[in-house]
Amino acid sequence: MRATFESVKKLKFSPFFPNQGKKVHYVAGPCSAESEVQVMNVAKRLSSIGIDIFRAGIWKPRTRPNSFEGYGTEALVWLKRAKEETGLKIATEVANPYHLEEALKYGVDVVWIGARTVVNPFSVQAIADALKGTKVPVMVKNPLNPDLKLWIGAIERVHAAGVEKIAAVHRGFSTYSDSEYRNPPRWQMPIELRRLFPDLTFICDSSHIAGNRHLLEKVSQQALDLGYEGIHLEVHPDPDKALSDAEQQITPEVFAELKSRLLYRQFDSDNLEYLENLEILRRQIDDVDDELISLLDQRMKIAQKIGGFKGKNNIALYQPERWNEVVTRYMSKGDMYRFDPKFISILLAAIHEESLRIQSVVVHGPNSSKQ
Ligand code: PEP
Ligand code: MN
Repeated sequence: MRATFESVKKLKFSPFFPNQGKKVHYVAGPCSAESEVQVMNVAKRLSSIGIDIFRAGIWKPRTRPNSFEGYGTEALVWLKRAKEETGLKIATEVANPYHLEEALKYGVDVVWIGARTVVNPFSVQAIADALKGTKVPVMVKNPLNPDLKLWIGAIERVHAAGVEKIAAVHRGFSTYSDSEYRNPPRWQMPIELRRLFPDLTFICDSSHIAGNRHLLEKVSQQALDLGYEGIHLEVHPDPDKALSDAEQQITPEVFAELKSRLLYRQFDSDNLEYLENLEILRRQIDDVDDELISLLDQRMKIAQKIGGFKGKNNIALYQPERWNEVVTRYMSKGDMYRFDPKFISILLAAIHEESLRIQSVVVHGPNSSKQ
């Protein structure tokens, strides 16, 4: 993540869940509303297990045509009945102002903007305009591609429409490379978003991140360890027969078991021993960080000198052989300390980029490396 977001204006959000804090909140339900029987069945079972919001897609954004695209308005009648008979709040995806208008007509309590819509600022703005004056809580999924600006932009547009109950739904990012996840989580994105918007509510959509059943628990617990307020899971009465996202859906029973195993992590504690120890360790981290930054400064000053010599002797700034040597040395040191090689290579790439930038400034002047 290269970009910095210091210019992003802090926004004020209201808690998304009515009883926010000290517990995990669940958004659960089938990927798609497939029939009245299916909706009623899963809603009743989820309501007796205990969830906060019942979800079901009725306009399904499918990557390719001729897949099941949802039952549209007809299915809103089923959701309305589920709400009346269980008392659950109901949520569905809206991709345009017409969807929103229809959803509100049938008493939908919460809407979400899907990953395929968030990538398009025109669509998000059209929905935001239609949201004006409604105050309906909105879940904003992350865009398909790992572009934090798009996610921020969608949240800003919805917020500017007067909606303060917004939740960021982290559903992972599409990838071309092989991954154990359907949509790798790239946790640093929501972490950065949370730094920018500290009182925004975070929900982890473990189902769309995992894309399969066996990773749901790991992803959900990781999210709770990071302080997310909610977990979003797709639950279907007969997952293998689901008309969409069959591999990642679970039965209400499996959902109940998973829910009972997940551990809620608090943000703070009044245990004095914990607080004192934490304070001591945090001071130690601060000291090490100060040293790290001063060591990096020393390293860059040496790079600067090297840049001066290279400039005078008309030598290319990037020397592949030398760089290879540095990488090999680093990787084996990293291995010695049992660092993840991926971490070492990201760290090194960042150091190298900055080092080249500094050398380029020495050779060509301060405007040479502006991007
Ligand atoms: C969904 O929640 O069913 C859905 C389509 O999700 P996403 O927009 O995250 O792909
Ligand atoms: Mn789905």
